[in-house]
Amino acid sequence: MEKESYRVLLYYLYTDIKDPEERAQKHLEYCKSIGLKGRILIADEGINGTVSGTYAQTDQYMKDMKADPAFKDIIFKIDEADGHAFKKMHVRYRPELVTLRLNEEDVDPREVTGNYLSPTEWYEKMQDPNTIILDARNTYEYDLGHFDGAIRPDIEYFRELPEWVDKNREMLEGKEILTYCTGGIRCEKFSGWLVEKGFDKVNHLEGGIVSYGKDPEVRGRRWNGQCYVFDERISVPINQEEHVIVGRDHFTGEPCERYVNCSNPACNKQILLSEETEAFYLGACTHECRVSPRNRYVIAQGMTEAEVNAQLEKIEEHLHAAQR
Ligand SMILES: [Zn+2]
Repeated sequence: MEKESYRVLLYYLYTDIKDPEERAQKHLEYCKSIGLKGRILIADEGINGTVSGTYAQTDQYMKDMKADPAFKDIIFKIDEADGHAFKKMHVRYRPELVTLRLNEEDVDPREVTGNYLSPTEWYEKMQDPNTIILDARNTYEYDLGHFDGAIRPDIEYFRELPEWVDKNREMLEGKEILTYCTGGIRCEKFSGWLVEKGFDKVNHLEGGIVSYGKDPEVRGRRWNGQCYVFDERISVPINQEEHVIVGRDHFTGEPCERYVNCSNPACNKQILLSEETEAFYLGACTHECRVSPRNRYVIAQGMTEAEVNAQLEKIEEHLHAAQR
């Protein structure tokens, strides 16, 4: 029997939602009833989701959403897939879809946002020496792949971006800013915030990296590496013409695009590790994490205490040899 084809849908819409909490509850029932899996946020300011399902299920979902006056303007980004990209179906209420300003009223992208660039316009602007390309995502996303020449703000969470900009204002002053994120949702707010902050030439990539990779004209050119995504696939390809690996193994610095969570559950940090380095370093980012009694790698491998100690010794020897 032929394997059934699946799809992953990525979408968002900034729009006023009435009774978002109740709506989230009903939407969850509905999604479950058609067999979708995924993660959806419903907020007073709109909806943001990634869902997976068969062709029939995803068709049904898109059809029903387009028939709903609240959601008829949603643009779905569609990826082919081998199976579900999630284990469960979640629909949650949040006060905001994405949070840029804590404890303050957030930017409303329906009132103020930057200038939208189509993938072709974006590609052309990137060649202009007076532009600056600013990645609006987190470091672990940037480290797996980014636009050629893009600046990497040193942030772990989106809400840290304003502070980073305030500290690095000189770098951006007088330049035409090009900012981008995965699907476009974060940049709608971030570019609006930049406009509010007095930057006058602020552009963002319409539909984000994901749409850029699907555009038949630019075909993802000048994108290096992979695009990090927030589902079980972890990453998707963007550049259809060449694949330059920018990810680097946490320990060896060798080209690597394999993200794993640190084996210490209390840390859980995402690190790039090849299968070999994962095995050698017991799947952990540091010595402290390696010797955690809850080390998941050690438990999964069924290693005895003696085996763990022998490996820790090997690691010590290796690190000393490298220092010499
Ligand atoms: Zn760790």
